[in-house]
Amino acid sequence: MPGTHYEIAAHDVHAHLFEVRCTVPHPASDGQRFRLPAWIPGSYLIREFARQFSDVRAEAGGKPIAIRKEAKDTWRAAPTSAPLTVIARVYAFDLSVRTAYLDTTRGYFNGPAVFLCPEGHERAPCTLDVVAPGDAYARWRVATTLAAESVDARGFGRYGAASYDDLIDHPVEIADFVEIGFSARGVPHTLALTGRVDIDGDRLARDLQRVCEAHIDLFGGSAPFERYLFQVMAVGDGYGGLEHRDSTSLLCRRDELPRRDLGAPNDEYVNFLGLASHEYFHAWNVKRIKPAAFAPYDLTRENYTRELWAYEGITSYYDDLALVRSGVIEPARYLELVARTITTVLRTPGRRRQSLADASFDAWIKFYRPDENSPNATVSYYLKGALVALALDLTLRSDGDASLDDVMRNLWSRFGVRDIGVPEDEFERIASELGGDAVREIFARCVHGTDDPPLDRLFATFGIELHLRPAASSNDRGGKPASGAVPDAAIDAKIAPDMRIQHAYRDGAAERAGLAAHDVLVAFDGLHATQDTLNALLRRRAGERVRVHAFRRDELFDVELTLAPPARDTCYLTLSADAPSRAASLRHAWLGTA
Ligand code: ZN
Repeated sequence: MPGTHYEIAAHDVHAHLFEVRCTVPHPASDGQRFRLPAWIPGSYLIREFARQFSDVRAEAGGKPIAIRKEAKDTWRAAPTSAPLTVIARVYAFDLSVRTAYLDTTRGYFNGPAVFLCPEGHERAPCTLDVVAPGDAYARWRVATTLAAESVDARGFGRYGAASYDDLIDHPVEIADFVEIGFSARGVPHTLALTGRVDIDGDRLARDLQRVCEAHIDLFGGSAPFERYLFQVMAVGDGYGGLEHRDSTSLLCRRDELPRRDLGAPNDEYVNFLGLASHEYFHAWNVKRIKPAAFAPYDLTRENYTRELWAYEGITSYYDDLALVRSGVIEPARYLELVARTITTVLRTPGRRRQSLADASFDAWIKFYRPDENSPNATVSYYLKGALVALALDLTLRSDGDASLDDVMRNLWSRFGVRDIGVPEDEFERIASELGGDAVREIFARCVHGTDDPPLDRLFATFGIELHLRPAASSNDRGGKPASGAVPDAAIDAKIAPDMRIQHAYRDGAAERAGLAAHDVLVAFDGLHATQDTLNALLRRRAGERVRVHAFRRDELFDVELTLAPPARDTCYLTLSADAPSRAASLRHAWLGTA
């Protein structure tokens, strides 16, 4: 049976319009329906991609045929027995890894944002023609992991996919990109790098190869794909990544890529490597070891699972862990990254109100739609999820002869390899089987409940001491002992450089005084409120009172604020000097430094 055929072309680069065609050889006899996904797998928010569609028309047997909208994301063509083509223009000017983009510098698209799905033909094989743009773009080439059927030297031409779901899991980059290649455990890997960059490509290939091999080795030494593609868009400011089975799209800051004279990895480069490592680990965890709720995805509505924390949190745990296990960063640097994650979670009062299981379930309306109250009401299933993964790993390693690696390998061989959805609670069942009551307690308290994972106790077994201190400044992210004096007081609010309150933390000094998010601070005790006068305020003593003038909307008001003691919410980790030798050997086995 012939499948669905698509064609995509740059219709008007300056207007950011693709023209997309979808042809069904045998349309439904009562009028073929076409539907666009409401969301893209990996990013759990209803995005209504159909809002960027316009000029939708249809042709059958070479003649125009009626097509009308039935719902916000659904069109239905008049009945016909001839091959039916729907043609649409798609506005593409969103610089993210989730949708589509077209201007004079590049073209890029994700299938869910541009390809209509003909109802009843979801499982039919698909072909896609990627049309070369005009002569002005003669240097543009195509980077995608779609299977090429007949393409020219630049990659324009025909691609094939086994089904609609397969078609939309391979984003396509069309640009004059820099190509960097390396092999990891015998599998070819490519980076297609777009944006103005001047980097040390050899260094990037060398480091990424080590990280990729650490992940491949964790899952038994052979990669589940025949090739892998990193599509990297470098910009002045931006961040994001989206995982696919055989590729990932990354958006990063230009200064996160390695310069030619870079020595040890700086913070920015570690950030990039962590992002690439994260999305790469997803090729196993979530793309192949996937929740039953995603097998298959229902692209018309929210797909609920209480275990996003396991798919995102465990992935967040392994993204940085792979950097130290592969030798790309030093163990001390890794402990700094862990301490920063602990710091961020400790500064989130919402971790006392939302469990990881609930945060997973409500991702669609909470995590992906943050507002000024989010830190008070929610917890990140990425960050706390990574800490729970760490706690599980340390527990399995110290109490038994197992590790989280064993849990992942178990899930891989029983579900991932066979492409079967993982039932809810299977993580908990497997980990509890290996780790017994200690693991059960972590799930009860820290996944279903709102407790912090007991990392100070667990770290002690590995010869690591966890220290907490007050933040030394507003950009103190933790990871190191305080340099210089720490404040003696706090107002328990996050203040932007323009003195606007971004977050007033629950039960904190600012909230108790009557200040709220979006208020603009004007004066402290009658003196102009600036970052400098704020810092001076924080050097006064807890319990002292301050008259604060502020604007709410356009109305000036004043309140009396009682300074609070500074929270000890900033973490750093050190190696214990007098740890027993078992602690050191446990630590070496964990970090792969043995
Ligand atoms: Zn992720």
